Amino acid sequence: MITKIIREEQIQKAKKYVEKGERFVIVSHVSPDGDALGSSLGLYHFLNEYGKEQVYVVVPNQFPSFYKWMPGVKEVVIHEKYPEFAEKLIQEADVIFCLDFNEPQRMDKLAPAVVEAPGRKVMIDHHLNPAQFCQVTMSYPEFSSTCEMVFRFICQMGMFNLLNKQAAECIYTGMMTDTGAFTYNSNKPEIYLIISELIKKGIDKDAIYRKVNQVHTESRLRLMGYVLYEKMKLYPEKQAALITLTQEELKRFHYQPGDTEGFVNLPLSIQGVQFVVFLREDRDYIKVSLRSVGDFPCNEFAGCYFNGGGHKNASGGECTGTLQEAVQVFEQGLETFKY
Ligand code: 5GP
Ligand code: MN
Repeated sequence: MITKIIREEQIQKAKKYVEKGERFVIVSHVSPDGDALGSSLGLYHFLNEYGKEQVYVVVPNQFPSFYKWMPGVKEVVIHEKYPEFAEKLIQEADVIFCLDFNEPQRMDKLAPAVVEAPGRKVMIDHHLNPAQFCQVTMSYPEFSSTCEMVFRFICQMGMFNLLNKQAAECIYTGMMTDTGAFTYNSNKPEIYLIISELIKKGIDKDAIYRKVNQVHTESRLRLMGYVLYEKMKLYPEKQAALITLTQEELKRFHYQPGDTEGFVNLPLSIQGVQFVVFLREDRDYIKVSLRSVGDFPCNEFAGCYFNGGGHKNASGGECTGTLQEAVQVFEQGLETFKY
């Protein structure tokens, strides 16, 4: 069926951990997105179906409300809310799966507990430059989502029959969100073979799209209008755009986590714009999101100026200091950055 791309020795080593392990914890990155939650919950349902009774998903902090429909999401342990419980689970786990991130810092305050835990660690991820802190490091940037990797991992272990409808729904969600509903990073034919298998497991892909994308609040839509009308600056000679939001503005529009998701993509719909940066004032730092089309490497820009990284066309980072300072860093970066 699908090509066996994940290296066989990695599959066999991880398969042993699956067979022998009793206590499993699945962790993912801070501000979990559809791929982080989808891959974690997909693997969670698989392990449950396998017969494992002690399986926990732990994430560093809260996720957007439009993922609250996902099967199993109520069981997700949020470290920020229950730090002691989360750390106890991690400390006692035989096996820790690290999904959708390449280095411990991406787990934020959860990082020390995971790095120091005695359990075997397995990374399944599609970001560049994986840090070496796991016994098995499945790092394949050529895949467009970690969810796709979890599907392949289960198949390559020969356990496709244990992938149930709930797992399929979670896996589809991350494949969809990490490709903008199959509008970027989505030209590999096997993606569609996998989707076909997921549909055979009983998922309703159209309903999943609606559950993620058509459940927003009035204030999010008004915030989007405000951003586009008042807060978007174009740099035509650089084929770039910037959007910014302050804490005060977020409060004015009753900001909830996830409300600004996708905003960074909006200016890319303007003809000629190839690079967009979104600077959002969070409580203790400036959150930076970067997107591009074509060859412009956002991850290098994020690495140079915003202490971040990610994929070529979708990256993130952060900035200490004020929003004005972050704007200056961006504008100076636009002048000096060469690729
Ligand atoms: P977003 O803009 O959606 O937060 O992030 C887009 C992508 O950039 C993520 O999928 C992740 O790969 C990467 N990313 C986001 N924030 C950071 C960060 O602080 N550091 C690094 N290295 N990558 C990030
Ligand atoms: Mn991902």
